[in-house]
Amino acid sequence: MPLTPEQQAEIDELRASARPTLRAVSEGMEKHLYLARPVLDHGFVRAIDYMGDDAAICQAARVSYGRGTKAVSNDEGLIRYLMRHWHSTPFEMCELKLHVKLPVFVARQWIRHRTANVNEYSARYSILDREFYIPEADALAAQSVVNNQGRGEALSGEEASRVLEWLKSDAARSYDHYEEMISTEGQQGLARELARMNLPANIYTQWYWKVDLHNLFHFLRLRADAHAQYEIRVYAETICEMVKDWVPSAYRAFEDYRLGGATLSASAIDCLRRMLNGEEVTQETSGMSKGEWREFQAVIAS
Ligand SMILES: Cc1cc2nc3c(=O)[nH]c(=O)nc-3n(C[C@H](O)[C@H](O)[C@H](O)COP(=O)(O)OP(=O)(O)OC[C@H]3O[C@@H](n4cnc5c(N)ncnc54)[C@H](O)[C@@H]3O)c2cc1C
Repeated sequence: MPLTPEQQAEIDELRASARPTLRAVSEGMEKHLYLARPVLDHGFVRAIDYMGDDAAICQAARVSYGRGTKAVSNDEGLIRYLMRHWHSTPFEMCELKLHVKLPVFVARQWIRHRTANVNEYSARYSILDREFYIPEADALAAQSVVNNQGRGEALSGEEASRVLEWLKSDAARSYDHYEEMISTEGQQGLARELARMNLPANIYTQWYWKVDLHNLFHFLRLRADAHAQYEIRVYAETICEMVKDWVPSAYRAFEDYRLGGATLSASAIDCLRRMLNGEEVTQETSGMSKGEWREFQAVIAS
């Protein structure tokens, strides 16, 4: 587990001091609050705070005074309607604040999601820990031959051992030099803000990341997707598990319309109609490019 005993004690203390509140509470999220869920070899995600629940989405959509309708089924239907019609602002009424520990190269992808608030651990002020992401054997894969932006089969044999050894020894060597450079024993010691440039992209950083539910769903749709890099996908999948418990109705609608759904172009809909009318449509007669046709086939394949 990537937490020190002191950090775990802080979490235990927080979880032991519950207080009553008038605010909307999601029982599902309460069970996750503060707890670190391990991701990769040294990383984690933990929920630090949240605002709102399924009812808050409906309350905002109706601009009501109370906590929404009495019937849960009405709320479920409304949430599905909002999701289906991209009526997104009611989802923005819910917020989630996460504490994430992640490798720097994953953070670079994550930070591209601009619609969140971030505060990162300062490597100008503090010293980064000697913790590096080293992939498991099955994640240590060769360049994909079908997708320029992905990986293919896992490396094997002597090549896998050599790569693993380089990843470990290069990281260790860089960190040794980092420590030596910032040391003030018998020397001035290089500023931390400069010494950190020697560290590799698989070192771990940490941040607080706060986002509303609409933009969180957008992040999860892109990053929990099979096209996302494995190392960010596992974080997204872990967050999905928490969101499922936090706002179960909204998550069900998200799963149905976004994660499991697909957007069809006008030409794709036209093809589908022709197919349903018994016409044999091919890529050549579809009006779609080869790539579009391949993706269309993947959507309709049973
Ligand atoms: C599989 C995959 C591969 C990728 N490959 C690359 C790559 O090769 N190179 C690369 O650079 N990036 C790449 N990205 C990153 C991608 O292009 C987006 O930057 C990232 O996914 C964030 O998406 P976003 O901008 O929609 O999210 P957010 O920044 O959270 O924005 C959410 C939405 O808000 C709106 N918005 C936010 N800011 C602005 C703005 N300033 N102006 C207008 N509208 C705004 C947009 O509608 C946007 O969709 C990749 C992402 C994925 C998932």
